[in-house]
Amino acid sequence: MSTDGAVTLAGLPASVLLPGHDVPLGRYTTVRRLLPQRPRRMVGAWCFVDQFGPDDVLGRPGMRVPPHPHTGLQTVSWLVQGEILHRDSLGSLQTIKPGQLNLMTSGHGISHSEESPREHPPVMQGLQLWVALPDPARHQEPRFEHHPALPTRTRDGVTTTVVVGSFGDLASPARVHSPLLGVDLALDPGSRSALLLRPDFEYGVLAVDGAADIGGTALTPGALLYLGEGLSSLEVSTTGGARLFLLGGVPFDEPLVMWWNFVARTDEEIRRARDEWTTGDRFGQVSGYAGDALPAPALPTTPLKIRDRHGNTL
Ligand code: MN
Repeated sequence: MSTDGAVTLAGLPASVLLPGHDVPLGRYTTVRRLLPQRPRRMVGAWCFVDQFGPDDVLGRPGMRVPPHPHTGLQTVSWLVQGEILHRDSLGSLQTIKPGQLNLMTSGHGISHSEESPREHPPVMQGLQLWVALPDPARHQEPRFEHHPALPTRTRDGVTTTVVVGSFGDLASPARVHSPLLGVDLALDPGSRSALLLRPDFEYGVLAVDGAADIGGTALTPGALLYLGEGLSSLEVSTTGGARLFLLGGVPFDEPLVMWWNFVARTDEEIRRARDEWTTGDRFGQVSGYAGDALPAPALPTTPLKIRDRHGNTL
């Protein structure tokens, strides 16, 4: 084990098991952050992955994330249990349930809130992910998509749901701006499958539930297994059953500055975004949320670092 906690594995030469860390989110929720991590900041354009639950929210507020801004990214909300109510500055008001996709494209600027509905199921579990927008797409108008059903298939005890991108002959209707993949894999106990991969993509996989063997590596919830590039297939199997999420994409070549809820290219862009959240109308208004918007935290006095996908500063 190296000093940063990452473990290099023998079976898949480029793979690294990256344990996440716990982060408080809002007043009532703790999430497990799997990206970015110090040794591995991105998988394709996926630049942020939070895993949450299973949380017992019976008789509790559940998720309460007040209105906050985004720029330069898309948010992907994916639930395996529970319900979340999304509001945004475009006027969207959308409940998401397991198997459905909320995809919000911030473009230049948007704000949103996320909360458990007043009446909600007893358990909440899922993923919140961000996709970095490539430069040509990051200044566009914001938009929100809700996909109530996604392409899915069950074969050999494995149910595959394509959340983002194309996998085999299944294609998600979600609109993204770089070659990207997000697939939910529900493995029945005792199942085994060979996933066909694209050598020009890099991949990572996480376990939402259960335990699986990924090309000879044991994977359980709380870590991201980064698989690298150049793979054309991947053996996955489980004894007791597992729920996995496979991330993939063409390696993202643009260095980024990430701070708070912003993805940008320079320190100056981040400082302007913070100013325009504090005063101004760039990020619009979220109506209907019972509570105040989130104030931006203080910026460091030294310039924010621009990093490539490997974490190297420029
Ligand atoms: Mn958000």
